Amino acid sequence: MSNNDLTGKTVVITGGARGLGAAAARQAVAAGANVVITDVLDEEGAATAAELGERARFQHHDVTSEEDWARVAAYAVAEFGGIDGLVNNAGISTGQFLADESVEHFRKVLDINLTGVFIGMKAVIPAMRDSGGGSIVNISSAAGLMGLALTAGYGASKWGVRGLTKIGAVELGTQRIRVNSVHPGMTYTPMTASVGIRQGEGNYPNTPMGRVGEADEIAGAVVFLLSDAASYVTGAELAVDGGWTTGPTVKYVMGQ
Ligand code: NAD
Repeated sequence: MSNNDLTGKTVVITGGARGLGAAAARQAVAAGANVVITDVLDEEGAATAAELGERARFQHHDVTSEEDWARVAAYAVAEFGGIDGLVNNAGISTGQFLADESVEHFRKVLDINLTGVFIGMKAVIPAMRDSGGGSIVNISSAAGLMGLALTAGYGASKWGVRGLTKIGAVELGTQRIRVNSVHPGMTYTPMTASVGIRQGEGNYPNTPMGRVGEADEIAGAVVFLLSDAASYVTGAELAVDGGWTTGPTVKYVMGQ
């Protein structure tokens, strides 16, 4: 058995139609898992699942809906016999100054990015207890490790996800349910491509590695945390950010 093996495990991945979630689904299936991809994007979600073959399914799912969560959890158990992993990945971003963000939009971001994660954790705990344990991976952000300008609702939601992860870890540890957060830095996906982020060396000089991340580089960390290779890892916050949250770059310090 290889270290990051997921053979026989069933993993639910929200927001899996595209971007980081689709990359995580692809790597989880390659590692041997059964995967239930969920999303509000039906066409893209069904296409991603079809591309992944026999061990992947798609379910329409709005993460803010308790009813949807109950249906998705029941579906995963009926289809594959249990739930061993959950990747709370669905999310939306913001790009406004705090002073300009509307209360309505702030609440919407919190509802999807934070309340959605909370309901998801609640929804899978019974099935994970039945399976004798499990692994929950909550996708936070570099914006959940530092104060990042233009992220009022988004940053607040991602700090919340980081905190909720710690609470889950301390409450569920003896039940063999591990809960960890992953903090991607700037990563090339449909979300960031739409605001002009570019791939390649030198295109992101404010990060120590000088480039943005690729979806597969985040997915690798997710699969590790889902797998038994991380059997003693819980409550951790894993930054996968090219060093972005470690500190300012030399160029920045020298004022160049
Ligand atoms: P993306 O927009 O490509 O994918 C997000 C997916 O979530 C989409 O398919 C979208 O339809 C889905 N989604 C949105 N609202 C939903 C809802 N209510 N219910 C179910 N699904 C919903 O973005 P991405 O870059 O792949 O982001 C994935 C996660 O990673 C997000 O939580 C994001 O905040 C986080 N993240 C991304 C970056 C980055 O640079 N790309 C950095 C840090 C954190």
